Amino acid sequence: MKPLPTCNTIIGHPDHQTMASVQLLSATHQLIIHSHFYFYGTAASEVLAKQIATDIEQHWNEPNATIQYKGKIYEVVFDVKGFYDPQLQPETVWYNTDPKLFFFRIEEYSPLDISFVDGIGSNTGFFKLSNLLQTSTTAAHEYGHMIGLHHPQQLDIRGQKTPGIMYPRGTLCDPHFQYDPSATPGQKGGTLDPKHRKVLTEDIQQLKLHKLNFDDGDFAVLGDFTSIYHAHYLSTE
Ligand SMILES: [Zn+2]
Repeated sequence: MKPLPTCNTIIGHPDHQTMASVQLLSATHQLIIHSHFYFYGTAASEVLAKQIATDIEQHWNEPNATIQYKGKIYEVVFDVKGFYDPQLQPETVWYNTDPKLFFFRIEEYSPLDISFVDGIGSNTGFFKLSNLLQTSTTAAHEYGHMIGLHHPQQLDIRGQKTPGIMYPRGTLCDPHFQYDPSATPGQKGGTLDPKHRKVLTEDIQQLKLHKLNFDDGDFAVLGDFTSIYHAHYLSTE
């Protein structure tokens, strides 16, 4: 992969005050996390773009989380939109300064054979089509990385309840969460089937939303810019 120009800072940008991803609404006691996804690549489509946005929104709104901020309780609401943009230009990605915009390529072939984001807390990456079609938790998991979450350190959750959204493939779990409940843990079929992952209240707490700095317009930025446009990788086979 050829290194591309990156934009990691928005400090001092004149438009910064008007653009944001997290909005504090005092009147309705809501903290809204706005994310707009733009999808490109040969496997992207209008239908898929809407589906991914819906998947992410439903998973992240499932726990109905609340946070306390300056003595008040706020309802955490994820507002996710998906757009198909086949004509997306690399420059649009490189020079984007709007923190609510995310740019993802979707292809049947992935250079790493998996879906990935360009770093923790980033706004760009690559989705492998089969991962998206396999389970609605794929996009929701990758979104967790985009807004700053890592994989948990302890990847053996046998004896614990519902697996959180940030557990990766390969995690050891109780039989009913495995691909094959009768498989020996760690052997083929004996690891976490990602469809059982759920966004839990603990995942929302990990975002540390109460630590965000809201400016005068009640906006704050969650995550960071990576601004990498992914070229079309061709399979060598
Ligand atoms: Zn991951």
